[in-house]
Amino acid sequence: MRRRQFCQSAAGMAAATALLPYSRTLAAAMLEIDRDVEAISGTGKELMLGRSEVQELANGLLGDLLLPGNPAYETARLVRNASIDKYPALIVQPSGATDVALAVDFARDHHLVTAVKCGGHSSAGKSTCNGGMMIDLSRFRHVRVDPANKIAYVSGGSLLGAMDHETMAHGLVTVAGTVSHTGVGGLTTGGGFGRLARRYGLALDNVKAMDIVSADGKLRHASAEQNPDLYWGVRGAGGNFGVVTSFEFNLHEMSRTVLAGSFVYPIERLRDVLEFYAEFSLQTPDELAADLVLAYPPAGKPPVVILALCYSGDKSRADAAMSAVSKLGKPMVGEIRPTDYVALQKSGDSDAPRVNASYLKGGFTSELTPALIDTIIAVMQQHPRRRSMIIFQQAGGAIGRVATNATAFAHRYAQHNMVLTMAWQPDEPRDEHVKAIKSSWAQLMPHTHGFYVNEADDDNASLVDKNYQGNYARLLGIKKRYDPTNLFRLNANIDPTA
Ligand SMILES: Cc1cc2nc3c(=O)[nH]c(=O)nc-3n(C[C@H](O)[C@H](O)[C@H](O)COP(=O)(O)OP(=O)(O)OC[C@H]3O[C@@H](n4cnc5c(N)ncnc54)[C@H](O)[C@@H]3O)c2cc1C
Repeated sequence: MRRRQFCQSAAGMAAATALLPYSRTLAAAMLEIDRDVEAISGTGKELMLGRSEVQELANGLLGDLLLPGNPAYETARLVRNASIDKYPALIVQPSGATDVALAVDFARDHHLVTAVKCGGHSSAGKSTCNGGMMIDLSRFRHVRVDPANKIAYVSGGSLLGAMDHETMAHGLVTVAGTVSHTGVGGLTTGGGFGRLARRYGLALDNVKAMDIVSADGKLRHASAEQNPDLYWGVRGAGGNFGVVTSFEFNLHEMSRTVLAGSFVYPIERLRDVLEFYAEFSLQTPDELAADLVLAYPPAGKPPVVILALCYSGDKSRADAAMSAVSKLGKPMVGEIRPTDYVALQKSGDSDAPRVNASYLKGGFTSELTPALIDTIIAVMQQHPRRRSMIIFQQAGGAIGRVATNATAFAHRYAQHNMVLTMAWQPDEPRDEHVKAIKSSWAQLMPHTHGFYVNEADDDNASLVDKNYQGNYARLLGIKKRYDPTNLFRLNANIDPTA
């Protein structure tokens, strides 16, 4: 009896379940490769993967191999941005570092275009591909806290929310972004801004060590003492060198209750609020995170300007930190109140994945000059008023007190990450929206100094070397050593042939 037929009978199903490795799903375990698999190389060439080689990969994994046609494949191939709709030839869902190494060996030996997915939040869709291998880390999620030593051990596929949940239970915390279903893997390897970053540095500044499978399929520990070049490069150059299977984060003691709130102003106050923020955001203490959102929501709702504050320090100094906001007068709504930090970190989540298609552009600013303020106002007036936003995520503080060459992340001067984004219904045509954002960004970009690699798209490809500033030459050397064939190219790519 063929294996698939055997598994379809009830007795066969029970027997098969008993024999399965514990982490493998039944659907994938039944996978029998009955054909060669068409694929695409990293340089875009068509390839054919032999059936027996693919079967061997499937048999070697403790986790799953998914191919088109497998029901689990349809969910696994998706990323958050609904405008990205790609079909990898193979999806590996590793159960651990050994599976990651097997997947990397297979992808490298077959020259496959290779994507690594953690939270799938890359708005440019860098975590998926057509015709290649997706290494989907979504089954590789675990957080262990060592409270005595104030360290969290976080698997490479984990989401931010789990990290906050586990660490805060011990009164400890590390830096995470503001949406809890963002991946630790992507956010940390590129930077990691968040409500605590002015206090404790970027997420990557809090990485004490990591385990990483590089393009040769070897698992390496990287820290200040071991493989220090990898440790340096991964902290800012995204997934250029391999797949991080585990992060060790330094933790900090913090009260679970912070003071937080959002003040909402009508769009007519845009200039006042921008001028206030230009000054205020350069003067806040490290314990205060002040982000600004200029939002044109869907039709029917008025455009607004939102000042979002989170104060995580000593409560006796909170008023002094935030009292200047009263200069803006009474907001439409908004107040500061004691807030559970973990709940706040989830407050921007959206439960429905792929509810929106979106596109964004971003860049770092060191000040909101009068010229930038004029440009923002002009852009917001020109813009098709549908679901567009300009967001200033505040930087500065502890982020800026790290030397530019201490990690690969070079933008220590930044005071804000300015993001222009638009969302639309997935069934609407994409091009019109992308064109509108690109045209607005052409006006805003001259006011920025470099971009956040986690927001880079293909337009940024020729600017990657300049963006890493003085760190690029060292990064190129590390790339040549750990990924000479550019297996990991779906990122703000350091091209080893350059
Ligand atoms: C709604 C939303 C909110 C955001 N908020 C913030 C924020 O507050 N602060 C901030 O700094 N950024 C924020 N970002 C940007 C975010 O940092 C990037 O989108 C980041 O790439 C997301 O990581 P991910 O793991 O979810 O992405 P994925 O799409 O899974 O991966 C993105 C990139 O990271 C690489 N990668 C992922 N995991 C690993 C790993 N384990 N090892 C090696 N490489 C890996 C992938 O290869 C890919 O190139 C936000 C994005 C969105 C969509």
